[in-house]
Amino acid sequence: MTAAAIPYTPPLKEIRFVLDHLAGMAEVAALPGFEDASPDMVDSILGEAAKIAENVLAPLNRIGDVQGAKLGADGVARTAEGWGTAWQALVEGGWNGLPFDPARGGMGLPNLLNTAVQEMWHSANMAFALCPMLTQGAVNAVQLYCSEALKDLYLPRMISGEWTGTMNITEPQAGSDLAATRSRAVPNGDHYLVTGQKIFITYGEHDLTENIVHLVLARLPDAPPGVKGISLFVVPKVLVNPDGSLGDRNQVKCVSLEHKLGIHGSPTAVLSFGDEGGATGFLVGEPNRGLEYMFAMMNHARLNVAMQGLSIAERAYQQALAYARERVQGKPLGWTEGQSKGIVNHPDVRRLLMGMKARIEAMRGILYTAAAAVDVAHHHADEATRGRAALLVDLLTPIAKGWCTETGQQLASDGVQVHGGMGFIEETGAAQHLRDARITTIYEGTTAIQANDLINRKLLRDGGATANGLLDEIAALAGELSGHTDEALRVTGAELVGAVHEARQAIAWVLAAAKQDPRLPAAASVTLLELMGVVAGGWQLARAGKVAAEKLAEGDADTAFLSAKPLTARFYATHVLPKAAALRATVVNGSASVMALSEEQLFGAV
Ligand SMILES: Cc1cc2nc3c(=O)[nH]c(=O)nc-3n(C[C@H](O)[C@H](O)[C@H](O)COP(=O)(O)OP(=O)(O)OC[C@H]3O[C@@H](n4cnc5c(N)ncnc54)[C@H](O)[C@@H]3O)c2cc1C
Repeated sequence: MTAAAIPYTPPLKEIRFVLDHLAGMAEVAALPGFEDASPDMVDSILGEAAKIAENVLAPLNRIGDVQGAKLGADGVARTAEGWGTAWQALVEGGWNGLPFDPARGGMGLPNLLNTAVQEMWHSANMAFALCPMLTQGAVNAVQLYCSEALKDLYLPRMISGEWTGTMNITEPQAGSDLAATRSRAVPNGDHYLVTGQKIFITYGEHDLTENIVHLVLARLPDAPPGVKGISLFVVPKVLVNPDGSLGDRNQVKCVSLEHKLGIHGSPTAVLSFGDEGGATGFLVGEPNRGLEYMFAMMNHARLNVAMQGLSIAERAYQQALAYARERVQGKPLGWTEGQSKGIVNHPDVRRLLMGMKARIEAMRGILYTAAAAVDVAHHHADEATRGRAALLVDLLTPIAKGWCTETGQQLASDGVQVHGGMGFIEETGAAQHLRDARITTIYEGTTAIQANDLINRKLLRDGGATANGLLDEIAALAGELSGHTDEALRVTGAELVGAVHEARQAIAWVLAAAKQDPRLPAAASVTLLELMGVVAGGWQLARAGKVAAEKLAEGDADTAFLSAKPLTARFYATHVLPKAAALRATVVNGSASVMALSEEQLFGAV
C-alpha cells in the first residue's frame, strides 16, 4: 500500500457532534455579527471544506514531502507540483476570509467554524495549511492594530488570499528569548528603514502569490532594552503603490531555505532585510508595543498549532486503522470463523488504536471548546460573559498548545507502531506524519515556553482562581457521572473526580513553591501542563459520553456512533486519567532533584 493510495476522509460526523454538543455551534451562531451562520451555511461550509481537504490538499501531501520547496537562482522559492493550483482554489472559494469582516471581503463566520475547516486542512496537508493559517494570523494583527490607511491597502488582498502573510520573529540569537531581538527600524519620512536577519520564517518566500506581507519585529533607535523596546512593522515583499497596484521590489531577500526533518512542502526561509540601506516598513500601532501586537497573531497561531497536533493524529489514526484491518498476522486471540483476521483484533493493537481514538476525541473537545470561547470573548453582548470567556481562552491556550502537540507526536508514533516495520518505511506515509508532527512542540513557543506561560501568567497572576474555577466545573460533572446508571460513565466520573483532586493539589503546590523559589515551579511546569491536559481531555470525553447517553435514552437511532462515546470515555478514564496521580507526585516531589545540585554536580565539569 502506498501513501498516495491511502485516502484522508474528513471525520465530518465527529466534527459535527463536537460542534453541536460540546462547543455549542448554535449558541455561537446566535452571537451578534454571525447572522450569516445559518445551519445551512454551516453544513455547506463543512461539506465544501471537506471536499477540498480530501480531493485537493490530501493528494498533495506526499508530493510536498518528496519534492519539498526549492529556492531558485532568481531568489524565488518554488513550491511543490500542484501547490499553486491548490492555493488558487482557496482564493477562488474565498476560504481565507471565512472568519473576517464582510466589509473587508470576509465571510463574517465564526472562528469555531473556521477551526473545523482548519482541522481538515491540517489533516490533509499540514505543510500546505500553514500558509492559510499564518495569513489569517497576519490579518488578525493588521485588522486589530494597523492604521486605516494600512488596512485599506493590505487587508482586502490578504483576506482574499491574493497576498499571504508571515510572522517574522525569530533571529539567530533570539528564539524563545525575544528580548534578544536585534533587527532595527529607523524612521525615514512616512515610513521606516528595516534592517536585520530573520530565520525559520514559514512561507517567508514562495511562488503562490505575487506579494507577501511580512510582519516584522524590530527595534527603534531609541527603544528601551528588552521586550519593552520591540515594535512591529508591515514590510511587504513588493511595495504597494497608493492606488493598490504593485510597485518596486522591497529589500527583502530570501538567503536560503532550511532543510528540515518534516513539513518539507512548507518553505522555511532565512530572510535578510535591508541589505542595500533598509527595507521599507510601516509601523503597526504605537512604538514599543510590538510584542503585545504580535501576541494577537501568536495566540491565534498557538491554538492553530495545537490543532495541528489533533489533525496529524487524526490522519495517522485513519491510516493505522486501515492498515490494521488489512494486515493479517496469525489469528487474534479468541478468533472465531467469520471474524476479520486483521491485526486490528489483536488486543494490543486495539489498545493502541483506542488510545489514538480516545485522545483524538479529547483533543477535539478541548480545541473546539476553546475556539467557541474565542467567539464568545469577541462577540457576546454581555461584558462579564466576554471577560469569562477570555479568561478561559487564556488558560486553555498554553494547555492546548502544549498537550495537544505532545499528544499528537505520541499518536503519530503509535501510528507507526501499528504498522510494524512498514511504519518505518517511507512509502507507507506513516513515517511522514511522525516527522511532520515533530515541529509542533517547537514552533509558536516550545512546550516549556507554554508551561512557563501557564504557571507565570495564568496561575500565579490570579492565584489559581481561573484554573480552580474550571476544575470546579469539571468536578461537578465528574461527581454527577459517578452516580450515573451507565457503568462506563460511572467509571469515567469516578476517575475524573480523582484526577481533578490531583490537579488541585499540584496547583496548590505550585502556588506555594513559587513563593519560596521560582525555580521550583519552573522545574515542574511541563509536568503540570501535562496533568492539566490529561484532566481537560477527560472533561471533554465525559461531556461527550454524557450527551451520547442522553441521546440514546431519548431514542436516537444512531446507536453504534453514540454508544461508542461512553466506552471511549471509559477507555481514557482507565488508561490516561490514572496518570494524573503520578504527574501530581512528580510536580510535588520532582523539582528538588532537578534543582538541588549545581550544573557541574549533575552533568559534570564543562
Ligand atoms: C520549521 C520551523 C518553522 C518556524 N516558523 C517560524 C515563523 O514562521 N516565524 C518565526 O518567527 N519563527 C519561526 N520558527 C522559529 C520557532 O518559533 C523557534 O524555533 C522556537 O520559538 C524555539 O526557539 P529556538 O529554536 O531558538 O530554540 P531555543 O529558544 O534555543 O530553545 C532550545 C531549548 O531550550 C528551551 N528553553 C529556552 N528558553 C527556555 C526557558 N525560558 N524556559 C525553559 N526552557 C527554555 C526550549 O524549550 C528548548 O527546549 C520556526 C521554526 C521552525 C523549525
